[in-house]
Amino acid sequence: MIATPHMVAGAAGATKARSTTGAVAIGTLTHLVLDGVPHRDYRMDTFGGLALIADTTIGTLVVWRLSKGSKVLLAGALGGMLPDLLRLIERALHINLTTWAHNTIHTPSRPSPWRSAAAQGLVAGAAALALRRLGEPRRTSAKLQLSTLRRRLSAAPGSGKAPRLASHRPG
Ligand SMILES: [Zn+2]
Repeated sequence: MIATPHMVAGAAGATKARSTTGAVAIGTLTHLVLDGVPHRDYRMDTFGGLALIADTTIGTLVVWRLSKGSKVLLAGALGGMLPDLLRLIERALHINLTTWAHNTIHTPSRPSPWRSAAAQGLVAGAAALALRRLGEPRRTSAKLQLSTLRRRLSAAPGSGKAPRLASHRPG
Protein backbone atom coordinates (compact mmCIF):
# COMPACT_ATOMS: atom_id res chain seq x y z
CA MET A 1 0.00 0.00 0.00
CA ILE A 2 1.04 3.63 -0.31
CA ALA A 3 2.45 5.65 2.62
CA THR A 4 -0.66 7.34 4.06
CA PRO A 5 -2.71 4.19 4.87
CA HIS A 6 0.43 2.49 6.22
CA MET A 7 1.31 5.45 8.49
CA VAL A 8 -2.22 6.04 9.82
CA ALA A 9 -2.79 2.29 10.39
CA GLY A 10 0.58 2.02 12.18
CA ALA A 11 -0.31 4.92 14.49
CA ALA A 12 -3.81 3.49 15.13
CA GLY A 13 -2.30 0.10 16.01
CA ALA A 14 0.13 1.80 18.37
CA THR A 15 -2.68 3.24 20.54
CA LYS A 16 -2.34 0.01 22.57
CA ALA A 17 1.47 0.22 22.80
CA ARG A 18 3.21 1.23 26.03
CA SER A 19 6.60 2.14 24.59
CA THR A 20 7.99 3.57 21.37
CA THR A 21 9.76 0.23 20.68
CA GLY A 22 6.48 -1.67 21.04
CA ALA A 23 4.80 0.94 18.84
CA VAL A 24 7.39 0.48 16.05
CA ALA A 25 6.88 -3.32 16.26
CA ILE A 26 3.07 -3.01 16.07
CA GLY A 27 3.35 -0.50 13.21
CA THR A 28 5.62 -2.90 11.29
CA LEU A 29 3.11 -5.74 11.80
CA THR A 30 0.23 -3.61 10.47
CA HIS A 31 2.37 -2.89 7.39
CA LEU A 32 2.90 -6.58 6.68
CA VAL A 33 -0.80 -7.39 7.21
CA LEU A 34 -1.92 -4.56 4.88
CA ASP A 35 0.57 -5.61 2.19
CA GLY A 36 -1.45 -8.84 1.98
CA VAL A 37 -4.56 -6.85 0.89
CA PRO A 38 -4.83 -6.60 -2.95
CA HIS A 39 -3.66 -3.12 -4.04
CA ARG A 40 -1.38 -1.22 -6.40
CA ASP A 41 1.80 0.67 -5.51
CA TYR A 42 3.64 3.44 -7.39
CA ARG A 43 6.11 2.62 -10.08
CA MET A 44 9.59 3.61 -9.03
CA ASP A 45 10.05 6.35 -11.66
CA THR A 46 10.09 10.18 -11.47
CA PHE A 47 6.30 10.43 -11.17
CA GLY A 48 6.28 7.67 -8.54
CA GLY A 49 9.00 9.50 -6.58
CA LEU A 50 7.00 12.76 -6.58
CA ALA A 51 3.80 10.91 -5.63
CA LEU A 52 5.67 9.20 -2.78
CA ILE A 53 6.89 12.57 -1.43
CA ALA A 54 3.36 14.06 -1.59
CA ASP A 55 1.85 10.90 -0.07
CA THR A 56 4.39 10.77 2.80
CA THR A 57 3.78 14.48 3.52
CA ILE A 58 0.00 13.92 3.71
CA GLY A 59 0.47 10.84 5.93
CA THR A 60 2.80 12.76 8.26
CA LEU A 61 0.36 15.70 8.56
CA VAL A 62 -2.64 13.42 9.24
CA VAL A 63 -0.78 11.39 11.89
CA TRP A 64 0.75 14.53 13.45
CA ARG A 65 -2.68 16.11 13.81
CA LEU A 66 -4.49 13.03 15.12
CA SER A 67 -1.71 11.87 17.46
CA LYS A 68 -1.41 15.30 19.14
CA GLY A 69 2.36 14.88 19.19
CA SER A 70 2.31 11.52 21.08
CA LYS A 71 5.76 9.95 20.62
CA VAL A 72 4.29 6.43 20.88
CA LEU A 73 1.75 7.07 18.11
CA LEU A 74 4.37 8.74 15.90
CA ALA A 75 6.63 5.70 16.47
CA GLY A 76 3.71 3.51 15.34
CA ALA A 77 3.46 5.54 12.12
CA LEU A 78 7.22 5.13 11.60
CA GLY A 79 6.85 1.35 12.11
CA GLY A 80 4.05 1.45 9.52
CA MET A 81 6.56 2.83 7.00
CA LEU A 82 9.59 0.82 8.15
CA PRO A 83 9.44 -2.20 5.76
CA ASP A 84 9.18 0.15 2.74
CA LEU A 85 11.98 2.40 4.09
CA LEU A 86 14.20 -0.67 4.53
CA ARG A 87 13.32 -1.81 1.01
CA LEU A 88 14.42 1.57 -0.43
CA ILE A 89 17.66 1.55 1.60
CA GLU A 90 18.42 -2.07 0.66
CA ARG A 91 17.75 -1.34 -3.01
CA ALA A 92 20.15 1.65 -2.93
CA LEU A 93 22.83 -0.47 -1.23
CA HIS A 94 22.20 -3.51 -3.49
CA ILE A 95 21.61 -5.78 -0.51
CA ASN A 96 18.67 -8.01 0.45
CA LEU A 97 18.26 -8.41 4.20
CA THR A 98 14.50 -7.95 4.67
CA THR A 99 13.20 -7.37 1.12
CA TRP A 100 12.81 -11.11 0.40
CA ALA A 101 10.50 -11.52 3.46
CA HIS A 102 8.60 -8.34 2.56
CA ASN A 103 8.13 -9.56 -1.02
CA THR A 104 6.95 -12.99 0.17
CA ILE A 105 4.20 -11.41 2.28
CA HIS A 106 3.30 -8.77 -0.33
CA THR A 107 0.30 -9.77 -2.47
CA PRO A 108 1.06 -10.33 -6.18
CA SER A 109 -2.54 -9.28 -6.99
CA ARG A 110 -2.95 -5.96 -8.86
CA PRO A 111 -6.63 -4.93 -8.88
CA SER A 112 -7.98 -2.08 -11.06
CA PRO A 113 -6.79 1.43 -10.03
CA TRP A 114 -10.30 2.22 -8.72
CA ARG A 115 -10.48 -0.88 -6.56
CA SER A 116 -6.98 -0.21 -5.29
CA ALA A 117 -7.86 3.42 -4.45
CA ALA A 118 -11.07 2.29 -2.72
CA ALA A 119 -9.24 -0.32 -0.62
CA GLN A 120 -6.49 2.11 0.41
CA GLY A 121 -8.96 4.96 1.06
CA LEU A 122 -11.05 2.64 3.22
CA VAL A 123 -8.00 1.51 5.22
CA ALA A 124 -6.76 5.10 5.71
CA GLY A 125 -10.25 6.35 6.68
CA ALA A 126 -10.97 3.51 9.12
CA ALA A 127 -7.50 3.85 10.66
CA ALA A 128 -7.93 7.64 11.03
CA LEU A 129 -11.28 7.11 12.81
CA ALA A 130 -9.73 4.46 15.07
CA LEU A 131 -6.78 6.75 15.81
CA ARG A 132 -9.13 9.61 16.74
CA ARG A 133 -11.24 7.34 18.96
CA LEU A 134 -8.54 5.19 20.56
CA GLY A 135 -6.14 8.11 21.03
CA GLU A 136 -8.83 9.79 23.17
CA PRO A 137 -8.70 7.77 26.46
CA ARG A 138 -4.96 8.42 26.70
CA ARG A 139 -5.59 12.19 26.65
CA THR A 140 -8.59 11.92 28.98
CA SER A 141 -6.61 9.90 31.52
CA ALA A 142 -3.76 12.42 31.31
CA LYS A 143 -6.28 15.20 32.03
CA LEU A 144 -7.71 13.17 34.93
CA GLN A 145 -4.26 12.64 36.40
CA LEU A 146 -3.56 16.36 36.12
CA SER A 147 -6.79 17.31 37.92
CA THR A 148 -6.10 14.71 40.65
CA LEU A 149 -2.61 16.14 41.09
CA ARG A 150 -4.02 19.68 41.30
CA ARG A 151 -6.58 18.57 43.95
CA ARG A 152 -3.83 16.86 45.99
CA LEU A 153 -1.62 19.92 45.77
CA SER A 154 -4.40 22.24 46.91
CA ALA A 155 -5.20 19.87 49.82
CA ALA A 156 -1.53 19.63 50.84
CA PRO A 157 -0.68 20.84 54.36
CA GLY A 158 0.16 24.50 54.52
CA SER A 159 -1.51 25.53 51.29
CA GLY A 160 -4.89 26.44 52.84
CA LYS A 161 -3.70 27.24 56.37
CA ALA A 162 -1.36 30.11 55.73
CA PRO A 163 -4.04 32.86 55.63
CA ARG A 164 -5.80 31.52 58.78
CA LEU A 165 -2.51 31.44 60.70
CA ALA A 166 -1.80 34.95 59.57
CA SER A 167 -5.19 36.15 60.90
CA HIS A 168 -4.43 34.68 64.36
CA ARG A 169 -1.17 36.53 64.62
CA PRO A 170 -1.21 38.68 67.77
CA GLY A 171 -0.92 42.32 67.02
ZN1 LIG B 1 5.23 -2.91 1.89
